[in-house]
Amino acid sequence: MNSHLDILLDMLSALPDPVFVLTESGRYAALIGGQDRQHYHDGAHLVDFSLYDVLPKAKADWFLEQINITLALNQLRIVEYGLAGADVDGLDSQQGPAGEIWFEGRIQPLATPVNNERAVVWVACNITRRHQLEAQLQLLSETDELTGAYNRRRLLDSLKLSLAQFREQQTPTALVLMDVDHFKSINDRFGHIAGDEVLRGIAHHAMAHLREGDLFARFGGEEFALLLPNTTLDTATAIAERLRQTIAFGNFLPDSHPPLIVTASMGLSLMQMHDHAIETILRRVDDALYQAKHSGRNCLVVAA
Ligand code: GH3
Ligand code: MG
Ligand code: MG
Repeated sequence: MNSHLDILLDMLSALPDPVFVLTESGRYAALIGGQDRQHYHDGAHLVDFSLYDVLPKAKADWFLEQINITLALNQLRIVEYGLAGADVDGLDSQQGPAGEIWFEGRIQPLATPVNNERAVVWVACNITRRHQLEAQLQLLSETDELTGAYNRRRLLDSLKLSLAQFREQQTPTALVLMDVDHFKSINDRFGHIAGDEVLRGIAHHAMAHLREGDLFARFGGEEFALLLPNTTLDTATAIAERLRQTIAFGNFLPDSHPPLIVTASMGLSLMQMHDHAIETILRRVDDALYQAKHSGRNCLVVAA
């Protein structure tokens, strides 16, 4: 018959997720569990080494910080992080998952010191699949299905963040609102499906010309918005003007004879220090767009 101790030891080594004991100075004091090589690499060699011996410094700093916060709070903490087999010195990267693995770390202070140091138990659970699903859901929730541009919800969220940032740092930030001209007649002449294709084409053109950090969104119907952080009035005007021309010269329904000419009207404004809410900026840009419509369309109006 097995003794209780046998069962306990067997059970510990069979723990599905790797369980580390890490000390206050960042030493691996023990490792049990996590034997399934489809989910985890073999980290047995880590014991007695320091985080700094085996991880890039920035990662080691982060792990040590988590250990110290957990010890200071003296309670269970749950963190998420990415780590690839290649990040850890001496791991056999052939045996274990390829690429970056996402972990949920559950960190609990130990009651008694290990080698005269305070220490934590760190359970590292592979949540890569869940993490990928979450990222996919996040993307879906902020993307416009038809055009692949960001949707209105994402635009409004980013606009709020941008405004807060602008009010803190006063870096110039521009917003452009664009409305396709006479779009109803495009639908009427070519049908709704062709109209959809035009909308996709416009979004495709716009997104191909963005800089990193710019945000292009479908605001609704045939209206789009372009949020340009860190952009002066001159640059924003040039970007919007270029986009307007790209659309006017675009060939969005290649099979149509004569070729369909699509144009758009635009309003543009910089954020102002007296903008306390995004509604104020949106109204200003919308007024400018309205003026563009009334100045003959296919033009850009910069809010006064
Ligand atoms: P204006 O130059 O004044 O903007 O004229 P317009 O015809 O573009 O403006 P209006 O607001 O009268 O019509 C917009 C049209 O856009 C009406 C609507 O059916 C169409 N529309 C909105 N969303 C979609 C869509 O997802 N697909 C298609 N094909 N049409 C859409
Ligand atoms: Mg409209
Ligand atoms: Mg329109």
